[in-house]
Amino acid sequence: MNTATKNERSAVETANYEDLCLYIDGEFIRGGGRKEQDILNPATGQPIAKLPHATREDLDRALAAAQRAFESWKKSSPIERAKVLRKVAELSRERAAEIGRNITLDMGKPLAEARGEVIAGSEHCDWHAEECRRIYGRVIPPRLPNVRQFVLREPVGVCAAFTPWNFPYNQAIRKVGAAIGAGCTIVLKGPEDSPSAIVAIARMFHEAGLPPGVLNLVWGVPAEVSDYLIKSPIVRKVTFTGSVPVGKQLAAMAGAHMKRVTMELGGHSPVIVFDDADVERAADMLVAFKFRNAGQVCVSPTRFYIQDKAYDKFVARFIEKTNKLKVGDGLAADTRMGPLAHYRRMPAMVQFIDDAKSRGGRIETGGAQIGEAGNFFAPTVLTNVPDDSMIMTSEPFGPVAPCVPFKDRDEVLRRANWLPYGLSSYVFTTSTKNALEMQNGIEAGIVNINHFGQAIAETPFGGIKDSGIGSEGGTETFDGYLTTKFVTQMD
Ligand code: NAD
Repeated sequence: MNTATKNERSAVETANYEDLCLYIDGEFIRGGGRKEQDILNPATGQPIAKLPHATREDLDRALAAAQRAFESWKKSSPIERAKVLRKVAELSRERAAEIGRNITLDMGKPLAEARGEVIAGSEHCDWHAEECRRIYGRVIPPRLPNVRQFVLREPVGVCAAFTPWNFPYNQAIRKVGAAIGAGCTIVLKGPEDSPSAIVAIARMFHEAGLPPGVLNLVWGVPAEVSDYLIKSPIVRKVTFTGSVPVGKQLAAMAGAHMKRVTMELGGHSPVIVFDDADVERAADMLVAFKFRNAGQVCVSPTRFYIQDKAYDKFVARFIEKTNKLKVGDGLAADTRMGPLAHYRRMPAMVQFIDDAKSRGGRIETGGAQIGEAGNFFAPTVLTNVPDDSMIMTSEPFGPVAPCVPFKDRDEVLRRANWLPYGLSSYVFTTSTKNALEMQNGIEAGIVNINHFGQAIAETPFGGIKDSGIGSEGGTETFDGYLTTKFVTQMD
């Protein structure tokens, strides 16, 4: 492709990209000499837009606006909050194609996945709109006849939220929906690398009539912004989705200032396929699920334990299906796996593979970058990797799948639980005994048996152990955004 054609193509693709900005106290803000960051298309490596960073004054304004807005928003009726959330759900369905296309441009995932993410996000808005009308307290039977005692649930206050780039729309809408639905206000720092979906969210809440200051959006150097916001006495709650080490830092900082936290962190989700499973069906389903979003998913299956008798059949089928995946620019209709979101993830993949090779691991397919432009990494299957190798112990957050055999149920349960993580897990079996033992025995916030059923609006999503604190979605979704007040009254 000559340079002119490439530039023309790039101009057409980015013509309607989001107009990136901050959103503070009901105002969309850009320019004004603020520092700007280049946003790159991961499929081409080319810049597509510039993102303004918040100044210290911007952060102070956002905090002050959120504090001011909380005084009235906490008194708003759930019906009023539900109306705004429902309107955003409606707008996001209407705009799913446009928002999805921009996610593909700045994050890389295939168009269908990006649009699907926005549609799923609309459901989260609907769910929070419905559930916020059911934030109930309770009446406790008194010990004396002239006493009334009851429990009130109240919004916690101003929330500082930090959301990542892998599902830029969904990760943010879950936090925003929960905070706003509970009657809290929020200062949100989205993912600087893939920001368009977050700006789109701010625009929809603005159009839906959300009062100024209830939602504020800032950008900057992540550690600087989080440090400033979490330490501010205005902030009462911290919610973060991202890596375990960063989550621990932020939770420690929040703890030092006695602030509540919701932490949705990384995992290392085991897959357990028993001999009695429909092995080929399991392999087909797992290829699609493993390489979705190029493996950049916190609940991505990352350690594949296959029982001895099923092992060869599973691995052969898994490799065959992996080899058929079409890797390419997410804008192309036939692409099944896009580029990695950021160039920094490429050397990370190489490290996992080099470590596996040095320990006797075999690369069955993939194992390297594809082409020179863009962050394309081949879907990779590894075998013969020891349990203490890097790929079996650290979250790959990329398109690398290690498969290893196991002998019996107790052994695989021990191996599944031996890491400090506990987010998701996957079991394939036709035995009710195996299914029951796994449900009871696996140390994880989520257990999927014979299908993938997690992360929908009406079910709780969250990890245990190092994978986090708290749940998003389900009837649990407001728990982290509410305080408990006990009232006792005598006539
Ligand atoms: P990273 O740890 O630098 O960043 C991950 C996310 O956290 C980004 O969105 C980033 O903006 C944010 N972040 C980083 N430091 C922060 C800080 N001090 N304060 C506030 N936010 C901060 O890593 P990366 O290269 O962007 O991503 C790779 C790793 O991140 C993966 O290994 C994966 O574990 C993790 N991650 C997890 C999720 C998830 O859904 N749990 C999502 C994205 C990334």
